[in-house]
Amino acid sequence: MELQKFLLQLQQEALDLQAENMVLKTQIQDLENTQKLQKELAFKNGVYWKNDEGPFCQRCHDADEKLIRLQDWHDCWHCTNCKQSYYTKQNPKDNSGNYAETDYDPLGY
Ligand SMILES: [Zn+2]
Repeated sequence: MELQKFLLQLQQEALDLQAENMVLKTQIQDLENTQKLQKELAFKNGVYWKNDEGPFCQRCHDADEKLIRLQDWHDCWHCTNCKQSYYTKQNPKDNSGNYAETDYDPLGY
């Protein structure tokens, strides 16, 4: 009788450990993902870039840890999630000079 009780208790403890293990695994995965993302993300001109992708909304990432792709409006980057607009548009991949409306003014006005 005592032995049966003991076995039941052991079973319960094993189940608890399994559940705890799952939670810990999930937490480790989350941390690894966050760390990986932080390494990949670059903060340039007020917005985030991830390797060749982007830009992503700085506000959404910092406040909600969400990567929201910014929409390419004619003179700014726009976030459809938080409605933030970034007027520091400058694409480091684009050397065509089409985005001269930043701080750089070739005529000196
Ligand atoms: Zn946003």
